[in-house]
Amino acid sequence: MKLSTRAQMVKPSPTLAITAKANALRAQGIDVISFGAGEPDYDTPQHIKEAAIAALQEGFTKYTPAGGTDELKEAICAKLQRENKVHYKKEHILVSCGGKHSFYNLAQAFIDDGDEVIIPAPFWVSYPPMVALAGGKPVIVATSEEEGFKLRPDTLEKAITPRTKAVVINSPSNPTGAAYTRAELQGLAEVAVRHQIFIISDEIYERIVYDGYQHVSIASLGEEVKAITIIVNGVSKTYAMTGWRIGYTAGPQEIIAAMNRIQSQSTSNPTSFAQKGAVEALQGSQAEVSTMVAEYQRRRDLIWEALTAIEGVSCHKPQGAFYCFPNLKAYLGKACKGERIKDSTRLTDYLLEEARVAVVPGVEFGAEGYLRLSYPIAPEVIQEGVKRIREALAKLD
Ligand code: PLP
Repeated sequence: MKLSTRAQMVKPSPTLAITAKANALRAQGIDVISFGAGEPDYDTPQHIKEAAIAALQEGFTKYTPAGGTDELKEAICAKLQRENKVHYKKEHILVSCGGKHSFYNLAQAFIDDGDEVIIPAPFWVSYPPMVALAGGKPVIVATSEEEGFKLRPDTLEKAITPRTKAVVINSPSNPTGAAYTRAELQGLAEVAVRHQIFIISDEIYERIVYDGYQHVSIASLGEEVKAITIIVNGVSKTYAMTGWRIGYTAGPQEIIAAMNRIQSQSTSNPTSFAQKGAVEALQGSQAEVSTMVAEYQRRRDLIWEALTAIEGVSCHKPQGAFYCFPNLKAYLGKACKGERIKDSTRLTDYLLEEARVAVVPGVEFGAEGYLRLSYPIAPEVIQEGVKRIREALAKLD
């Protein structure tokens, strides 16, 4: 059978694939520690569940407007004003089935054949395929561990060509946990405004930040910047609602309207009662968010200290999100039972076989020599997992 060129272009999400591998081993009774999945281990707060349950019981079970209910769009506008100091009307908002779907629709509505989208590496695994599926060309621009994995304005400027449509900024970042300061964002915004390229600002981890870091939404830096920015966000990570599938975009009305048309001909509305839950998430008590973030910070400290204590391993200290991205280049080229570990993919396989620990190879995020560990898991499991990694690495020669 001949599949479409598009389908042939896409491989399965590596983070979902590694989680599936770990689960398959567990089903065979093998004790695997998984640092694979990028999701909170917390359950969704009860008051959010109750809002969705009440919606179901009240019969809120029909189609809603394709782009989301007015109630949720208004809650999103209020949140953007309150937390991000940026003013949008509901015509500037589209609710989709998760932040990933928001980005996908944006790419479909906005990227044309041959349009270039600058993606700083390390990047979230789904950006390049979503750009490519829309016919665009992902332009990967490396950032360095020494510079905290942040894109510099001069590096951005050098990557811009007449075909550049947009740059993706993901702060705090998956996979590095890097978070930009206001001044750094101002530098990038100045370049984008001068060249009139769009900024796709993925802020899905904005509330999961540490050590007093204050998230700044790049759209809040002024009207000129706001006019070229599309914010991608959602409730998955902050409110432990990954399975609910509610994400949203805020941006220029023309782009939002085009995305809405595409959504109306593909998925239609995001699930009606999940939207009610999202309203409660945004408007209700935020107490559990603070509890969860404080705990993630403790785990960040634990995993970062354990990883950097391993000989030859360095690791940028994450300021946000819930991932560590250690540098294991010192171990590439070493051998296990005569077989050379040539890259991060082979190292990942080795750690699964030898240590029964699942991690994601850095190459999937555009950075060879690194591994990504997602750490919303119990502290004692983190400790045991990193110990196993350390012991397995020590066996390489
Ligand atoms: N953006 C980034 C950087 C992510 O890591 C993820 C999820 O892993 C998403 C967006 C999308 O999240 P969701 O589709 O669950 O809302």
